[in-house]
Amino acid sequence: MTQTNPPTVRFAPSPTGRLHIGNIRTALYNWLFSKQQGGQFILRLDDTDQERSTEEFAQGIVTDLAWLGMTPDRTEKQSDRFAVYDSVADKLREQGLLYPCYESAEEIDRRRKRLMARGLPPIYDRSALNLSDDDKAALEAEGKQPHWRFLLPNFASDPFVTRRTEIKFDDVIRGEQTVDLASMSDPVLIRADGTYLYTLPSVVDDIEMGVSHVIRGGDHITNTGAQIAIFEAIGGPVPAFGHHNLLQDASGEGLSKRTGALSIASLRESGFEPMAVASLATLIGTGQAVEACENLQVLADLFDPGKVSRSNAKFDVNELNGLNDKLLHAMSYQQAHTRLQALDADMGEMFWNAVRANLNRFDEIKKWADIVDGKFEPVAQDEQDSNFVIEATSLLPQEPWGDDIWQRWTGLVKEKTGRKGKQLFMPLRIALTGQHHGPDLKQLMPVIGWERTRRRLP
Ligand code: GLU
Repeated sequence: MTQTNPPTVRFAPSPTGRLHIGNIRTALYNWLFSKQQGGQFILRLDDTDQERSTEEFAQGIVTDLAWLGMTPDRTEKQSDRFAVYDSVADKLREQGLLYPCYESAEEIDRRRKRLMARGLPPIYDRSALNLSDDDKAALEAEGKQPHWRFLLPNFASDPFVTRRTEIKFDDVIRGEQTVDLASMSDPVLIRADGTYLYTLPSVVDDIEMGVSHVIRGGDHITNTGAQIAIFEAIGGPVPAFGHHNLLQDASGEGLSKRTGALSIASLRESGFEPMAVASLATLIGTGQAVEACENLQVLADLFDPGKVSRSNAKFDVNELNGLNDKLLHAMSYQQAHTRLQALDADMGEMFWNAVRANLNRFDEIKKWADIVDGKFEPVAQDEQDSNFVIEATSLLPQEPWGDDIWQRWTGLVKEKTGRKGKQLFMPLRIALTGQHHGPDLKQLMPVIGWERTRRRLP
């Protein structure tokens, strides 16, 4: 039997905004995939864009992951590693695989448009390869700084005559994939201002950090073709790849880190349970039923990368609300205990069991704790109902009460007054809780107890 090592994965966001539910889908897929097999999860901050990356966003990423229960086994940031990238870039230059180009952004755009107008794919024609050393010196004397492109291995001997060059990989999510290196431009690895795009640093890091599986969004499939060529040029082992479908908002728009739409921070602030968010972010857009999983282990046992759909998926906040309700309504007192104490709303197991089915958000428990305690505004009732409550009060059994106190009391009230159904219980519910809706009074009344009940009745 061949022994395979547990996988090492990395989640590699740029700290240029708040993580949204689509980013977290990528993090979760990496986490679940690696933890299913006892592997390692690296958080790698892709902060080569120093202008847009901030420490605050980096902190936000760590906070969001921690909230969802994902503590990285290792954290790295690319801004610590420029010297490593520089030395790899130098080697590629020496091999003639990284070449300087002087076209301005406008020039590149003009050429693209011209090609597209002729119905041709907008692929860079490598004209910079024709520049002599003198040409380059002259351009630089004019103050032009080059950007640097990687020469894709999509030709036999003449780089101006490309040929179909298939890169095939067995995607852990999508199965066999083919990317043709002749269908794309040589990727820019270094901008004219000397900064790195993520493409090269990512490959360098994946090699050095022993990443065995790169799991990311389907928008990276073409990059994967180019990056596999770069892995091979550098001589590192090529990891396995997996590309998942993307999430869209309810209107079908893609999600953006910059707008903060559906950010994890905003979902947290709206009081959603982390596992409602994690369950939906993982299971939506798969052939698997979307279930509310109690913890990441349960989700890891369920998650199957082979069942992820090809088409993009729509995130629906109603679905999130539904999962949230399910988690709260099934939450045991043991699970809720510490959080109840933190909210100063721990009134014991009977209280929690009586009230949990009424919660849409955990924090609403505080309101019910106050109500049980008698901290609510009494609600005025009409004369008939007020008189009914007075009469019912005179029939309230003395202590000791059993768990059947509500049935005993309302049984007596029904017999005496002839009221039944809503007419019977609504005035009592309003008198006992100040609310028209709420937990089953059969369960709640023993929790309120005789003394507190007596205090709130006329
Ligand atoms: N920083 C890149 C991104 O956020 C990482 C892509 C990758 O996982 O390789 O798109």
